[in-house]
Amino acid sequence: MTNLKVRVNAPTVRYSEDFIEAEYEYWRTSVTESDENDDNNTYTVSPTLTRLLIRTMMKVPKLGLMLVGWGGNNGSTITAALIANKLKLMWKTKEGEKTANWYGSLTQASTVRLGTKNKEEDIYVPISSMLPMVNPDDIEIDGWDISDINLADAMTRAKVLDINLQAQLQPYMMHMRPRKSIYYSDFIASNQGKRANNIIMGTKIEQLNKIRNDIVEFKTMKDLDQVIVLWTANTERFSEIIMGIHDTADNLLKAIQEDHSEISPSTMFAVAAALEGCTYINGSPQNTFVPGVLELVERQKTFIGGDDFKSGQTKLKSVLVDFLVSAGIKPVSIVSYNHLGNNDGYNLSAPQQFHSKEISKSNVIDDIVQSNKILYKPGEKPDHCIVIKYVPYVGDSKRAMDEYTSEIMLGGHNTIVIHNTCEDSLLAAPIILDLVILAELCSRITFKRMDSDDEEFSNFHSVLSILSYLCKAPLVPQGSPVVNALCRQRAAIENILRACLSLPPENNMLLEHKVT
Ligand code: NAD
Repeated sequence: MTNLKVRVNAPTVRYSEDFIEAEYEYWRTSVTESDENDDNNTYTVSPTLTRLLIRTMMKVPKLGLMLVGWGGNNGSTITAALIANKLKLMWKTKEGEKTANWYGSLTQASTVRLGTKNKEEDIYVPISSMLPMVNPDDIEIDGWDISDINLADAMTRAKVLDINLQAQLQPYMMHMRPRKSIYYSDFIASNQGKRANNIIMGTKIEQLNKIRNDIVEFKTMKDLDQVIVLWTANTERFSEIIMGIHDTADNLLKAIQEDHSEISPSTMFAVAAALEGCTYINGSPQNTFVPGVLELVERQKTFIGGDDFKSGQTKLKSVLVDFLVSAGIKPVSIVSYNHLGNNDGYNLSAPQQFHSKEISKSNVIDDIVQSNKILYKPGEKPDHCIVIKYVPYVGDSKRAMDEYTSEIMLGGHNTIVIHNTCEDSLLAAPIILDLVILAELCSRITFKRMDSDDEEFSNFHSVLSILSYLCKAPLVPQGSPVVNALCRQRAAIENILRACLSLPPENNMLLEHKVT
């Protein structure tokens, strides 16, 4: 199954050694409203068609992944998972023998419906078979951490993986040592201070240059075509956005040169990545992407994605609230309580870092609520409360308890209570892999309007909103709507991949079986 490839047989698709070129008819519906203050107003809907030529480059680059926070639970777990899968490791547990896998990864462990065979048998294929994608086995890994311990010890410290698997991975990971990183103590919780023994000293511009050199060195050392930098370090407090400092790319670069104190480590990494032509992904909730970074990445024609991995509780919320509201049921109170005992939880026990996470977790239902004006008046929202507590004993095994209270017909109530126990890093690691694989793929897809004389193909926008499925607080280009509902986010990925092959969007109509 893993080596399976999809090939489309249609005059609108051309395969060459270098590209897949697909002609695509993109339909959208634009709506105008006669008078929004009038109860009897009319919506006029106009379907509009754009003919696109979509080009996907065939050659998959040799890819390097640099993690900020490499020695953390997620960093050590994704490193372990890459090695374990590459070596097809097997290990004994009290429940029997286990084999390495990528469960939880959209690209490696999920399938999409391609079509029907003999009119009735649905054919599903791995997402990775649709277009040429990076094979996880070929990804080279490196990174930075403010803690200097090697990756084998980091894996032990994380207490995530089974001990027999750790024993097999030990020799591969003990020589991996994180590079020195940028540490400004007031951006993460003060309780992290004792970890910080692996720090780049000097001014901000010296630190920026050191990170840039690290990227270049890794690229050269491993003979890589492309490097992606991904933040999986501690959650930072929000940066205060200051005019003249964060507002434009030039001001930001100047502020770094002048050693301004309100520039976060994560913004420093995002700037370094952009200047080195690398995609940068933010797996935590803080506002790394200040306006100056957004301008810089557009100027550098690089890509960014974020924010904050969508792994457990929020993923479920973005399904459940979508289900309730789209069923015409009105959620009125959502209370989400978590406790966890890993270092992420320890960092989040500080108020400012918790606040970053609280914001990221809170906005996830906004667009879903706003979509239904029958249930919610303008500005009305469910009560939504987020609590996170640090309980060391449970370690990485996070507990999430959610209560959803909804109004149903004629004054009735419906309360759903969910208890979710999951190993946090085992959910986050496959998401890291997907972010990297999809972001890389996006860098090889270009578009051109077929009715335009312009010879130039254009890229995806620098802000890769296609990664929304994997992010709690999806980052989208300015002016573009934020979509939080998980099914819509997944459909976007699936249908864009189909468009690259000139296949119509999956519409689930099955008219061939409904019409005689
Ligand atoms: P962790 O605390 O185990 O790892 C973070 C690592 O970052 C630590 O090793 C720390 O030393 C390092 N670090 C801190 N500041 C740094 C800096 N400036 N430069 C380099 N390294 C630095 O946490 P984790 O469980 O691996 O989670 C990582 C991040 O991912 C957190 O911000 C967390 O909120 C976010 N996240 C995790 C999940 C999940 O695990 N399911 C989901 C969503 C978001």
